[in-house]
Amino acid sequence: MASIEQAITTLREISTEAGYISQAAAVLSWDQETYMPPAAIEGRASQQAILSALVHQRLTSDDLGTALQTLGASDATPTGNPSLAFMDSRLVRQLYRTWKQARKIPEQFIRNLAMATSQGQVAWANARENNDFAGFQPHLEKIVDLCRQKAEYLGYQGEAYDALLDEYEPGMNTTNVEGTFAALAGELAPLVTNCVRQSKNSPIDTDFLSSGFSIEGQQQFAASVMEAMGFSSERGRLDVSAHPFSTSLGRDDVRITTNWSDDLSRGLYGVIHETGHALYELGLGRELPSALASGTSLGIHESQSRLWENMVGRSREFWQHFFGRLQTIFPAKLQGKTADDLYRAVNRVQLSQVRIHADELTYSLHIMLRFRLELALMRGQLQVADLPAAWNAQAKKLLGAEPANNREGCLQDIHWSMGAIGYFPTYALGNLYGAMFMDQAATEMPKLWDNIAHGQFEPLRSWLQTNIHQHGLAKNAGELLQDICGKPLSHQSYIGYLRGKYQAAGKD
Ligand code: ZN
Repeated sequence: MASIEQAITTLREISTEAGYISQAAAVLSWDQETYMPPAAIEGRASQQAILSALVHQRLTSDDLGTALQTLGASDATPTGNPSLAFMDSRLVRQLYRTWKQARKIPEQFIRNLAMATSQGQVAWANARENNDFAGFQPHLEKIVDLCRQKAEYLGYQGEAYDALLDEYEPGMNTTNVEGTFAALAGELAPLVTNCVRQSKNSPIDTDFLSSGFSIEGQQQFAASVMEAMGFSSERGRLDVSAHPFSTSLGRDDVRITTNWSDDLSRGLYGVIHETGHALYELGLGRELPSALASGTSLGIHESQSRLWENMVGRSREFWQHFFGRLQTIFPAKLQGKTADDLYRAVNRVQLSQVRIHADELTYSLHIMLRFRLELALMRGQLQVADLPAAWNAQAKKLLGAEPANNREGCLQDIHWSMGAIGYFPTYALGNLYGAMFMDQAATEMPKLWDNIAHGQFEPLRSWLQTNIHQHGLAKNAGELLQDICGKPLSHQSYIGYLRGKYQAAGKD
């Protein structure tokens, strides 16, 4: 029987190898979204298929299974033998989870799902283009069935949706999300109604932001914001893609993208959001083995991007510091404007139908809508054929109106066509986690906002790195909350933050 030491070495070797192959695959994906000529797509898809098969082989291998068994990993003891050092026990936990999940799903099923979702995405794009839900319906029916089947393969304690949610937000369950969202919805509703009424009574000027900003000037400004946030151009770069994203190609190589237009806020907040994601990846502990060297969940990742984008980037203090710099770059555009005008403009509240353009206050409502519907689909309480009507009814309830058509309603997002049911909640969870972390950061650093007003972002970045980033997957979301805030997930910090910002805004 192999020794504990040998088994750990096996785990680390497999983890390192799978990590390098994944990073190589990430380089190819990044290139595909940024510079790759369109005709290269077929060859690229084949290259990607081989790399992901190689990773899958490593992470489901019998060698890994044997090593995990030697280390005592089981459902009852996922962290393995109690004598293991902390980092080794977390490596065991992570690889046991990956190994077990991957082996539960038959290869034929993975191929069927990949086929259904790649056809589904094409059908979705056409359906959205032509506002033709009927064209997408049979594909979505198939995808929902496959997702239900996937949940059965993975197994769950409560209900099928738990298994899907757990893929994106390990440790979270449906009951918890449902309860938290219901509480949040109840408190958000009056706040939103108030703000919408307020902005009707005294309209906020946002027109001055929406055009006439040269891309060159915006890039210059964004570069100073990224630098202040602590993004090092020695360890990453910013490029352009259709949809902003961030990806890690190695320990010292994080790529982010944005999409520039002459609207100042689109490009800038895209950059701040993605820089927030990038700082997480760049802040991972050097000692983490490959399998633990990434963000711990989608929700925690979103907490980092949204915290920088909204709580910091849309704060009064941020603009107190950065307005002068912006004005130097765009003197004519901003003549007669103040930091306060900018603050108000980037925080205008408006009920709208399109999630990706939603403001900070109403954003979570868009997520709740999707969560309610995908949950009803998984529970078999809603048929795909009835989705447009159900969407419209929820939109009326949560967003005050029905969308003009399905294109702006149930066809607006790509996620379901990709089979990503269970993903949406992580966006709103990110808001909740972020607010809890910021509450704690402000308690520990009473000068936090003062620092930000003076352009000193380093104390915050460094706090986030110490408490969150460096741990990677060694701590899951629940453990981070417990260790940092001493309590489980709740909507209280977030709603407190929103009240502070938007009730105050209503008064002046
Ligand atoms: Zn994000």
